[in-house]
Amino acid sequence: GVALAYAAVRVVNELRRLYAEQHETADKLAEASRQKTDFLADVSHELRTPLTVLRGNAQVGLALGAEGEQKQLLEEVVEESKRMSRMVEELLFLARSDSSPPSLEPETISIPPVMSELAGRAAVLARERGAVLEADLRAEGTLRADPGRLEQAVLILIDNAIKYGPPGGTVTLRSEVTHSGELRITVEDRGPGIPKEDLPRIFERFYRVDKARSRRMGGTGLGLPIAKTIVEAHGGHVTAESRPGKGTRMSVHLPMLEDPAKTAQPTPAQR
Ligand code: ADP
Repeated sequence: GVALAYAAVRVVNELRRLYAEQHETADKLAEASRQKTDFLADVSHELRTPLTVLRGNAQVGLALGAEGEQKQLLEEVVEESKRMSRMVEELLFLARSDSSPPSLEPETISIPPVMSELAGRAAVLARERGAVLEADLRAEGTLRADPGRLEQAVLILIDNAIKYGPPGGTVTLRSEVTHSGELRITVEDRGPGIPKEDLPRIFERFYRVDKARSRRMGGTGLGLPIAKTIVEAHGGHVTAESRPGKGTRMSVHLPMLEDPAKTAQPTPAQR
């Protein structure tokens, strides 16, 4: 009996020790992850100023009347430093949202006007790059969201659909309320699609199916991770479907607010 009791105490003590050790490891991991995030945020921040100077100087060079090869080189400096500045801003946004979700300024918004404004901006974006936007906006109701951030997320999907779609192609923007009562915003293109094996990875930072193509199009590999972060901060999620050779469909799913008109209606028992 005594031997058994001792054995039991030993087991309990060992379990306690393992538990404490596990906690210590978790603390260390959290600290390491925090340091990594801080470092990324610091680096991004420090890169801002030299990049601005670089671009500024190249622009002055162009304004002073550089010609021929010189002009071409300076234009390249301007373009690449713009791309890098964008990457730095995007990294900063992602690094910050690692430690805490991105700060939102949520408002109660009516879906139709927000969607038509979004469609307007998407149409301009498409026209500028020789593509055509088709909009089919059916969703009605209200939503609790930060309209600026939401627009940013959907425009990333539109930008990709234009970028990777065929030149002069059509991009479709749809909004609808699903059976389960969520808002679904869909962006569809008729581009080359995304190979099945790459699909699960495109929301990872810097993941690009075709690095060279993404670069040529001014891509940073951070668009989709940002869209995902924003949508998830709203309690929603983003999904991607693709048929190689046929096209890609990206969808933003968002929880909606109960229809106030419906909830305000008296129940039969109250009448
Ligand atoms: P990028 O800046 O490279 O566009 P993203 O994070 O926005 O970065 O997208 C990641 C990758 O997913 C892209 O490089 C591209 O390979 C692929 N991708 C995204 N959208 C589409 C699309 N509509 N059609 C085909 N490929 C796409």
